[in-house]
Amino acid sequence: MIDKRRKQMIYDVAVIGAGVVGCAVARELSRWKLKIAVLEKELDVATGNSCRNTGMLHAGFTYKPGSLKAVCAVEGNEEFDLVSSQLDVPFKRTGKLVVGFTDHDRENILKFRKNGEINGVKGIRMLETREEIEAIEPYAGGNFAMYVPSSGILDPMQYTVALAENAAKNGARFLFGAGVTGIDRKEDKDRWVLHTAKGDISSRWVINCAGAYSPMISEMLGYPAYYQKGFKGEYFVLDKKAGKYLSIPVYPAPNDRGGFSTHATPTVDGNILVGPDSYLTEGREDYANRKERLDGLLADGSRMFAQMKREYFIRNFAGIRWKNCDKETGEVLDFILEADPEHPHTVNLVGIESPGVTCALPLARRAVMKILDRQSEEGSPLQANNSFDPCRRVLKRFSEMTMEERRKAIAENPDYGQIVCRCENVTKAEILEAIHNPLGVHTLTGIKNRTRSMMGRCNGGYCQTRITQMLEEELGLDPEDIRYQREGGYLFTGKVRD
Ligand SMILES: Cc1cc2nc3c(=O)[nH]c(=O)nc-3n(C[C@H](O)[C@H](O)[C@H](O)COP(=O)(O)OP(=O)(O)OC[C@H]3O[C@@H](n4cnc5c(N)ncnc54)[C@H](O)[C@@H]3O)c2cc1C
Repeated sequence: MIDKRRKQMIYDVAVIGAGVVGCAVARELSRWKLKIAVLEKELDVATGNSCRNTGMLHAGFTYKPGSLKAVCAVEGNEEFDLVSSQLDVPFKRTGKLVVGFTDHDRENILKFRKNGEINGVKGIRMLETREEIEAIEPYAGGNFAMYVPSSGILDPMQYTVALAENAAKNGARFLFGAGVTGIDRKEDKDRWVLHTAKGDISSRWVINCAGAYSPMISEMLGYPAYYQKGFKGEYFVLDKKAGKYLSIPVYPAPNDRGGFSTHATPTVDGNILVGPDSYLTEGREDYANRKERLDGLLADGSRMFAQMKREYFIRNFAGIRWKNCDKETGEVLDFILEADPEHPHTVNLVGIESPGVTCALPLARRAVMKILDRQSEEGSPLQANNSFDPCRRVLKRFSEMTMEERRKAIAENPDYGQIVCRCENVTKAEILEAIHNPLGVHTLTGIKNRTRSMMGRCNGGYCQTRITQMLEEELGLDPEDIRYQREGGYLFTGKVRD
């Protein structure tokens, strides 16, 4: 709704940030009759750390008992078979190996085993010999290992897209390119006014899900600008040819501070991720890769995975875990999830680092509960959205179909018969579905992340121009309007000649 006199968009709840946490919050909010806006500074969901991670569904054995990290990880892990089937996202409950070489490794692994048991992680057991390890994964390193059956792998980008599309289907509105630059409180109207690059938004409730920038939004809402340290981690992505050598994530024994260094993790699409390492950075979006770091990954990764070879490398990326820390001691603290009545109608989520993907829905439910409780206390309880549908469906990928399914799909829709991306076998039907996605995203990386086109060995050399042309034809865009990923990231600057 737009207040015409003041040209403000008016909502019940404004969620700042469309990472996995903001999208999970929007999805859980859409169970209620509310006008919901998700304000995102970039042009798609999951452009921050939600697409810059390992994609593990963590079991919850590393986190301090009783902490939000521990409780939400175990809860998020247990419910994910149901969640992934409702949202039609790929997920494999692979289990995980934490491998050790020395007595000291064993001591640290056993501490995690005990911690996991206190946190309620089921089925953890030790594998004492190489034979036992090889029975599960012949290419895993280590002389002994802890096996954790409940760990799993998911595609964090697809999961975030699915949460957002499901929220949109149930009524939430996504505003892209709408970075929040300032927030004012209109006490007389009991509302917040958020200044964004897309104009002002008025909302009764504000939920801070701004990831790396959550301390800045926290301060704008009147909470402290919590102290954080940025732990950057770099990755190698290995070709699917390497994928057949690893069926289960392989982690090294934790260090004395309880942290893991470089691990090898299969992806749901059959690639392998090697990383992340961990070092401090100050740049909130310092995602560049560094040669010396990649050399380190190669050495450390080889200890976890015997097939770590240069010929398999296809690309790199990096992410940053922004951890809440004690300023004096440097101790890493828990997630912050708070709703202080001193800052009325706000929910503040800060420092949602790893395992934030695993914890996204449990955190979202707790954030929405704060709103439900407060609205009830104020005598205006929320009404259920009776048309809420928890499910979302996407076209089955051509690359994953049997020959019989392919024949049937092409007979029903000839667009399945045209391969646009040769490396990943992505068809015109799938690209068209992505171009007409429910969130209205039309960047090239938006298409790439939804379909896997441009993600193969040729990195889009063959299909990128074809997809650009399809964007022009389907959406009536001029070539100069098409952006690669970000605001200002235009592919074409103008015509070379008329
Ligand atoms: C290297 C690494 C490995 C990890 N591995 C795992 C793993 O295996 N499993 C797991 O569960 N977790 C993992 N995590 C943690 C997980 O990635 C994060 O916890 C999660 O992605 C955080 O999601 P978010 O929505 O809070 O933040 P983000 O994904 O960063 O989203 C925040 C969003 O807010 C937007 N935004 C910021 N400021 C503004 C503003 N002013 N106005 C509007 N929008 C704004 C940003 O553009 C961004 O889209 C890992 C993290 C890293 C870095």
